[in-house]
Amino acid sequence: MAEVAGTGQLVVGVAAASLLVATFLAVVLGGRRRRRDPAPEGARRVVDGQWGGGSGTDVIVVGAGVAGSALAYTLGKDGRRVHVIERDMTEPDRIVGELLQPGGYLKLIELGLEDCVQEIDAQRVIGYALLKDGRNTKLSYPLEKFHSDVAGRSFHNGRFIQKMRQKAASLPNVQLEQGTVTSLLEEGGTVKGVQYKTKSGEELKAYAPLTIVCDGCFSNLRRALCSPKVDVPSCFVGLVLENCQLPHPNHGHVILANPSPILCYPISSTEIRCLVDVPGQKVPSMASGEMASYLKTVVAPQIPPELYGSFIAAIDKGNIRTMPNRSMPAAPLPTPGALLMGDAFNMRHPLTGGGMTVAFSDIVVLRNLLKPLRNLHDASSLCKYLESFYTLRKPVASTINTWLVRYTKSSVPQLTRLGMRCVKLASIT
Ligand SMILES: Cc1cc2nc3c(=O)[nH]c(=O)nc-3n(C[C@H](O)[C@H](O)[C@H](O)COP(=O)(O)OP(=O)(O)OC[C@H]3O[C@@H](n4cnc5c(N)ncnc54)[C@H](O)[C@@H]3O)c2cc1C
Repeated sequence: MAEVAGTGQLVVGVAAASLLVATFLAVVLGGRRRRRDPAPEGARRVVDGQWGGGSGTDVIVVGAGVAGSALAYTLGKDGRRVHVIERDMTEPDRIVGELLQPGGYLKLIELGLEDCVQEIDAQRVIGYALLKDGRNTKLSYPLEKFHSDVAGRSFHNGRFIQKMRQKAASLPNVQLEQGTVTSLLEEGGTVKGVQYKTKSGEELKAYAPLTIVCDGCFSNLRRALCSPKVDVPSCFVGLVLENCQLPHPNHGHVILANPSPILCYPISSTEIRCLVDVPGQKVPSMASGEMASYLKTVVAPQIPPELYGSFIAAIDKGNIRTMPNRSMPAAPLPTPGALLMGDAFNMRHPLTGGGMTVAFSDIVVLRNLLKPLRNLHDASSLCKYLESFYTLRKPVASTINTWLVRYTKSSVPQLTRLGMRCVKLASIT
């Protein structure tokens, strides 16, 4: 994997290029059905008297989702004693974080976590297809200079997270505990740790020189650590299509539909995720049947014939999920003893499919910054030192976020026209 190692700029280039391909076109999307796995085998309860929540902890990580589990493994591998507190260790079942861009996969390799996309029926993604009114074209990621393994990956988010949790839990110096963090413990403006409720309802406190909050897009804890300005321009309505093939295998599909794009991509060898963008903060009511009616009358006529039958079958099956599409610029209030990561820190519209890429890229930056520091106890010096994190993360994070800002500031008709111009310019099949 010689081409991959030491290719920082190229990584950014691929991240940017793949996102450019994706967002430029208002695109992106962003097996067999398996039982949801229980908590990872290696996850251990912190037992009184054993190391875990005691004074020996270097870093507390709140949340073991995409960012938290990767961060716990990364810091654990660097010899830190990490105490992870996650409110639900069972396999998540959700419609987020299912397509990892090639730039994100490169970061996963840098973190030594690339095996987490193995054995989960993940699918390779090598580019996008754009579809409009029966016409379509393909755009490939510019990956010629990379090892053949490098490509996007799409999968069930929960399977991927369980793999990363298992990997983190396999390190003896990483403790995963199921519990809900209720507050940060602050003393004289410095965060000293967290208060949390265990699975059995016990209220406990944990202390560490550094607490990293990765509690996701609905973060309850970010308010003390940043000035959150959350925008919700639209929602995604998610369905799983079965018994059908995408017009272009191994490609994300962006249907330039009216009033908003529709994304389709494989999440296993037998399932296709379909995400319908619905403008505004409210979706049609599921209970009253408005949602099914909207999907059948407005959306279905714009679905390619290869997917139409499965789309209708998925609506009839009723397993329709919704998620608000949130964006939030990074606006940290540097606080000694604590840091935000992942969606708790910074969000961009999921149409970029860049959330996981930003999270992994940020973890690489943080890991490199922390590496030379053995002692994390001088909270104010550490806080000053970590301010460079906000500058160093910008090349990747801003590329992804800026394209997003442009996307969200464009109207859907503008984007559709832009996409159509691309369809016309490229070879049309
Ligand atoms: C509809 C949608 C589709 C998306 N699609 C993509 C995509 O295709 N590709 C992509 O790269 N990104 C995508 N994203 C973005 C991506 O999902 C996020 O960027 C990514 O999941 C962020 O990881 P995270 O660790 O910050 O949050 P999460 O993965 O949500 O993890 C947060 C964790 O914190 C835990 N937690 C929360 N509160 C507490 C608490 N108080 N105490 C303890 N634990 C707590 C939760 O249980 C959870 O496990 C999408 C987002 C949306 C909304």
